[in-house]
Amino acid sequence: MAVLAFDVGGHNVRGAVVASDGKILFEERVPTPAGRQPIAVLDEVKKVSGVLLKRAEVAGTKVAWAGLGFPGFLHHPEGIILKSPNLPGWERFPIRSELAKRFSIPFQMENDANCAALGESWLGGAVGFRNSVLLTLGTGVGGGVIIDGKLLKGAHGGAGELGHIVIEPDGPPCGCGGNGCLEILISGDSLKRQTGRSGKELEDFAKAGDRSSLEAWEKMGRYLGIALSSYCQIFDTEIVVLGGRISRALSYFGPALGRELEKRLQFHPTRNVKVAQALLGDNAGLLGAARLALEESAPLED
Ligand SMILES: [Zn+2]
Repeated sequence: MAVLAFDVGGHNVRGAVVASDGKILFEERVPTPAGRQPIAVLDEVKKVSGVLLKRAEVAGTKVAWAGLGFPGFLHHPEGIILKSPNLPGWERFPIRSELAKRFSIPFQMENDANCAALGESWLGGAVGFRNSVLLTLGTGVGGGVIIDGKLLKGAHGGAGELGHIVIEPDGPPCGCGGNGCLEILISGDSLKRQTGRSGKELEDFAKAGDRSSLEAWEKMGRYLGIALSSYCQIFDTEIVVLGGRISRALSYFGPALGRELEKRLQFHPTRNVKVAQALLGDNAGLLGAARLALEESAPLED
């Protein structure tokens, strides 16, 4: 048994045939069409799936379901994409019906951070934990929450938007319409705006002992620690997994983050919550999309 998995991004459309144990059997990657308009992108998904299904057929692999990860806000009951920060032109796009027009196999969908949370929980940094929180620290901040082995979806599929928890109510305006969200304070874009340096540069400068870079990481760790302590209070999680480019600087922002957790969770059962780095890299979203499809095709034990 295998499933089709897709990870649609601002730069690439990736597709794979994934076995039920998570092994990627076949993979294809094409650039996201210029303009990134929905119909053009779905046509690429269709083309990629044609190539993959052909390869699966030749190998005698049966593919019954598909999963798709998408960088945007999905409204599950209506089957539409409300908005995608990276893909303009997708506002209120009826993705479920457009996929149904093109494919005979059923699709499961989630936003990319939720897919990454599923992937890391299944095969990555949160393996062995029934309750985990994933944060991707990249150009933005995405999140996903696994409770008792299941992805937390909420009433409309909008749960787990962890980048938009408010840290400073009067802070800088965020793309979501609010102010002082975690994302606008600690994302790669935001660090660049605040310091003039990319995450990589800030890391290199910190390594060389540059004081302002070390302070920037300290401040970032503090904000992140405040956010993580709130997630622990709400979800009582066992482990927080950090993915994305910025997470590689954990040794610089980790101490400040730890101090916040220690202070804010001292009377809470999660006071020793584990904080770890993600393990699947770019494959987290693709494997999470596969897991979505596998869960639908046959309910899994763990
Ligand atoms: Zn926000």
